[in-house]
Formats: sequence, C-alpha cells, structure tokens
Amino acid sequence: MAKRVLITGAAGFLGSHLCDRFINEGFDVIGIDNLITGDLANIEHLFKLEQFDFYHHDVTKFVHVPGDLDYILHFASPASPIDYLKIPIQTLKVGSLGTHNLLGLAKEKKARILIASTSEVYGDPLVHPQTEDYYGNVNTIGPRGVYDEAKRFQESITMAYHRFHGLETRIVRIFNTYGPRMRLNDGRVIPAFIGQALRGEDLTVFGDGTQTRSFCYVDDQVEGIYRLLMSDYVYPVNIGNPDEITILEFAEEIIKLTGTDQKIVHKDLPIDDPLQRKPDISRAKEILGWEAKVSRQDGMQKTYAYFKNLTKEQLYKSEHKDFSKHIQK
Ligand code: UDP
Repeated sequence: MAKRVLITGAAGFLGSHLCDRFINEGFDVIGIDNLITGDLANIEHLFKLEQFDFYHHDVTKFVHVPGDLDYILHFASPASPIDYLKIPIQTLKVGSLGTHNLLGLAKEKKARILIASTSEVYGDPLVHPQTEDYYGNVNTIGPRGVYDEAKRFQESITMAYHRFHGLETRIVRIFNTYGPRMRLNDGRVIPAFIGQALRGEDLTVFGDGTQTRSFCYVDDQVEGIYRLLMSDYVYPVNIGNPDEITILEFAEEIIKLTGTDQKIVHKDLPIDDPLQRKPDISRAKEILGWEAKVSRQDGMQKTYAYFKNLTKEQLYKSEHKDFSKHIQK
C-alpha cells in the first residue's frame, strides 16, 4: 500500500512543489490549506489524480484526518514580510497553535513530522554564514517578530514533543527560495523585480542595496527537504544555496535577464531587514549528502519563463492580495 503524507500549506509555493514531489515518489498525498495566502491554481493539476485529496481547512483549528498517516509536513504559514504586517495574528497562530495541532495529530497517527522553519530564526544575524548552532538575533517586538518568534516557538514545541513523547520529528531551516508559483505580488524581492521588469516599471531596491541574500532554486530546496524527512536526524538543518549576492547586484542581473532598460530606484529599507544572509550548509552536506545544484542563472531563467507566461490581467493586478475578510482584530 502507498504511504500517506499530509502536507499543510499545500496550495502555497513550497507546499505545492512538495505535493508534486510526493505524488511523483508514489505517495498518497493529502493537502490542507486555508487559502489565505495560497492559491488553488498551484495544485489544480493534482485534483484529477486519485492519489491526491484536498481539505480546505485552517490548521489553527483542530485537524481531523481519517485513516493512517505516515508523514506530516507542516508548511502552512504566511512567508513574506508584507504578509506578516497584514496578517500578524494568523502568522503567530499558524506557527504556534497550528504546529501544536499537527504535533498532536502526528502523535495520534504515529507519523513522522517535518516542520518548516526558517533562516528568520537567526534574525539579523551577527554570525556569518549562519550555522545551525547560532542562536540568532531577533527583535521580538518588531514587525518580523510575529513570524520569527512563531517559528522559534515551533522549533521548541517540536523538540519538546520529540523529547517528551518520543515523536519522530525533523526541522528544516529554509533560506530564501524561489521558482515558479511564487505569488507575483507577495512583496518578496524576486517576484517584485520580475513583475516590475515585465510591466516596464523601475526596480525598487530597498535601502542602498548592500544587504545580501542567497537564493535557492525550489527543486534544490524540495530535494533537501525530502532527504531530511527520510533521514534519522532530529536537529535543525539549514537548506539553502550559499551563493550570496547583494540586492543591488541582483537588481542588475534581473535587468540583464529580462533584457529591459529599467532604472533602479531606492526606497526605504524595511525595519529589521537582515543585513546579510547566507547558509552554512556543512551539516546538510554531511548528514544528507545534499547541496544546491541549480545555479542562479539557470533557476532565474526558469522562474522568468513562468512569470512571462502569466496573463496581462495577473501581471497588472499589482496590488497586494486582499486579506480583509481574514483579518482578526
Ligand atoms: N527588497 C528590495 N526590493 C523589493 C523587495 C525586497 O530591495 O521590492 C529587498 C528586501 O529589503 C530584502 C531583500 O530584498 O533586503 C529580500 O527581501 P524578501 O522580502 O524577498 O525576503 P527576506 O527579507 O525575508 O529575505
């Protein structure tokens, strides 16, 4: 019998790619999403498959799944700084209450659970590149605090379930990842720059653009996550591409890639925007035999091809997604 895996955040960017991967590996996949930031278009192609099921559900409420489960991957969460500002309470709840519900479900089903943590647990890091044993530098009360602290709590409660209940747990710390199905207007730098180039607008670099990021192509990220889930390693593992670049240089690369002659304009740097970020992936190499394979050039070509195919209507619907009916006061 096929193994069954539950994936939360299934209609999101990473969640939908994970659904594809597990279907291809021969699993039965159950996707859950409340569709606040996710988009059914990302998993539409799976609905016709017998191996795929979808529940429209908010995992901060009790999660009921009939039958056995072998694995759970908890990927539900807003994941962009603009989203945290607009839906801060949901962001906190899905990382804390949502994780608690899924750990309870994993215990009940005797399933192995992998939770999606993030490089944001390192905050604005004082150690570079970031190793897993760095404790981080997070502003608890800043705008990103709702995400960062939810994810830090998520790691703690996951280790508590491992230690206290003997649950099989895995923790991946995901660094900036990109590829097809990113939300065009989620405010993240890659869809922002590509969208601007396609619309003929200036590219908005925040601050002086000397802050760095290291971008990992989604297929590499999914491979790392898959290997971690199948491994027997319970401590956090960084998965990301260590190829670091400043945001200003990256804007210049986008202009070359898109063949446009857009100008670069500078805007205010958001509060607590990390100055530098680059994963140390020694642990992933040693334990999982994993490292990123897709160069930024190849990954960005594929990503650009995806965004170029969007309709004019999608491209010009440039305002941020309307969350008003979900806002909790
Ligand atoms: N950024 C930018 N212009 C934009 C969007 C983002 O210069 O239109 C910068 C942002 O300030 C940050 C970097 O790009 O330094 C990456 O931002 P993103 O929101 O993608 O991810 P994160 O800050 O969480 O790494």
